[in-house]
Parts: sequence; structure tokens; C-alpha cells
Amino acid sequence: CGIVGYIGSRNSQSILLDGLKKLEYRGYDSAGVAIHTHSGLRLLKTKGRIHDLESRLADQPLTGFAGIGHTRWATHGKPSDANSHPHTDGTAKISVVHNGIIENHLQLREELEALGCRFVSETDTEVVSHLIAHYYAGDLVQAVRQAVGRIRGAYAIAVLSEHEPDKLVAVRWASPLIIGAGRGENFIGSDIPAILEHTRDVYILNDGEMAVLSRDSVELMTLEGNFIAKQLLHIDWDM
Ligand code: GLU
Repeated sequence: CGIVGYIGSRNSQSILLDGLKKLEYRGYDSAGVAIHTHSGLRLLKTKGRIHDLESRLADQPLTGFAGIGHTRWATHGKPSDANSHPHTDGTAKISVVHNGIIENHLQLREELEALGCRFVSETDTEVVSHLIAHYYAGDLVQAVRQAVGRIRGAYAIAVLSEHEPDKLVAVRWASPLIIGAGRGENFIGSDIPAILEHTRDVYILNDGEMAVLSRDSVELMTLEGNFIAKQLLHIDWDM
């Protein structure tokens, strides 16, 4: 339902939580974050309100300069801690948040289970994290591209990997996703209010477009890997 992503030099936890709160108006049943900490990629997710996530993060903060956050509106699988996003490949080397519906998830799940993947949720989303892990061979962008080539449906997806901690990858098809360009920091949002507090310069992704973010750069490309030159849109309205 709602997606926020951050990479930069500030502590990402509060930026992700604030961004998710700005998306609360869309409705949701669970919330979660994944953050690159000094001890690796760490997740915290829970059924319930952002406030519940926030109080748990107050007890066990996740400190790091890159992360993704999600508010879920369940379509496949009941609202529960296990079904909340982010989802992983089982080893938490890869972490994914997703808005939308993966229509061919049952078929993909069967295929991945036959290869030995163990699923821990009832969501359609979990096939995405397992697919990315399956295709990962040293290049996260390439793995995301291959994984997305297998899925049908509507998606806005943001991906973090412990293999490449200085990178955030986003891709969309039929579900809104924008990139916020900052100075020494960049953002992902499913909607402009999520990031407007931090930057007014955004790229609006179109269907089949991918963004690769680092602290200092945003690369936009098609799913085929062709780079795209896109105009930054300056947002001059307030919330
Ligand atoms: N289909 C996914 C799920 O049920 C994502 C739902 C959403 O857009 O929040 O987990």
C-alpha cells in the first residue's frame, strides 16, 4: 500500500517512519522496515499501526543509512506479522517491499519450492524476494531485472540487499512509484507526500522503468537495461 525508501547519510529509521505516517491516509493493516545496520540487513515488521512499529523500534533501534519501509493493505494472506513486508529470501540477504498484486505467484511459488526455497508467509510478494535471490549472481540490478521479467501483475517494488549495501533498487508496473532527488541522499516513495519534507525534486517512474539509487546518484533505466534521461519535476505545492 505505502512504500518509502532512503539512502544517504542520515539515520534512516526516523525518515522511514515519518514517510510511512505521511502515507497513513491510504489505509493499512501492518507496517515494517528493513535497514542496513553495521551488523547487516535487519528487519522489523508487525501487524497493526505504525505506532506499534515505532514503539518496538524505540526499544530496539535499527541504525543505518539506508532502508525501506512499507505499510501493507493485505490482498494475499491475512494481516499478520509474518505476512507484513519487507519480505526476504529466507536468509535476509535480500529484502523487498511491494505494492500491488503478483498474479502468477502460485505458479512461481511451486517452482521455487521445487528448487528448495522455503516460504514463511502467505503473500504473493514473497516470490519476488526468493526470485531475486535465485537470480543473484553478483549484480543486484541484473537479478531484479530477471526476477521482474518472471512476474505478472501490478507492482511497485523496492529492494535492498546485504550484498550491495550502497544501493537501493526500485521498479514499477501499474502501481505508482516516485524517486526523490536530494543532496547526498535519495528517496523512494509510493506517493509524493512520503518524501516532500526532504526534497521537492522528483522523478515519476513509468511502467517498466527501474531506478538505481545510491547516496549521490539516481540512474533510471528500462527493464531492458537502457538508460533513460528524465526531467526532474519540481513540486511547488504543499500538503
Ligand atoms: N499483495 C501484497 C500483499 O498482500 C501487497 C499488498 C499492498 O499493496 O500493500 O502483501
